Amino acid sequence: MHRFFVPPACIQSGQVVFPPETAHQIIHVLRLRSGERLCVLDNLGNQYAVDLVETGQKTAVGKILEQQPAQGEPLLHLALYLCLAQREKFEWMLQKCTETGAATFIPVISSRSLVQNVAETNKKTNRWEKIIQEAAEQSGRGRIPELKPAASLAQAVLQGQGKKIMLWEQERSTTLRQALSGVPANHSAEIALLVGPEGGFSEEEVQLSRKSGWQPVSLGPRILRMETAAIVATALVIYELEK
Ligand code: SAM
Repeated sequence: MHRFFVPPACIQSGQVVFPPETAHQIIHVLRLRSGERLCVLDNLGNQYAVDLVETGQKTAVGKILEQQPAQGEPLLHLALYLCLAQREKFEWMLQKCTETGAATFIPVISSRSLVQNVAETNKKTNRWEKIIQEAAEQSGRGRIPELKPAASLAQAVLQGQGKKIMLWEQERSTTLRQALSGVPANHSAEIALLVGPEGGFSEEEVQLSRKSGWQPVSLGPRILRMETAAIVATALVIYELEK
């Protein structure tokens, strides 16, 4: 079934009046016609079963059949602090980690990040938000994950809330499961997860993060590429805490 996020104001009196860009996609790109069943998401955590009842050249209207809490939205709030990487790799992480359940993305510039320019990075906001929205629609999320402005590692480690976990391949004692053991499952917990660049974190960055309350954690004895680490850790956090 096709899923679309619409602003809550488009949902009124048992109907969804699709905004022009979505109407264009419905009518001209997907070529959907009256009678088609759709899933509409309001970005407030609700999903609606909707029958398309009216399509014009530029307009599309649906009738709401049922409203329920969006099924694909995790209870916990996972903020993913991702060191900047080459474009395709970074976009792939945004897409896949939206599918697996991240709620917020913060691009981070660390000493060994391949990309160092904040202004250039923030120019990509529109493109990245589109990637995140499409992945959220595809995976049936109830809310579109938020993309925050890029931050230096020193700023980012001060922003983290809740349980703060830093993925560090040199950590030998604490595993991800151990780090999560005190966090209650099925709860609206805040988890912050920091993923390093291909070149890893410097010793100073690990110390700085520790001082701000981040706990270095191992994902096991194999060294994963950063995009693998990001998606694996996101999925494992959701797996451990959403039972
Ligand atoms: N340059 C490092 C090396 O060669 O040892 C590897 C860095 S790794 C490719 C990129 C990032 O993924 C790391 O900074 C870390 O955040 C995460 N990562 C990869 N494997 C990990 C593991 N086994 N445990 C924890 N974090 C890991």
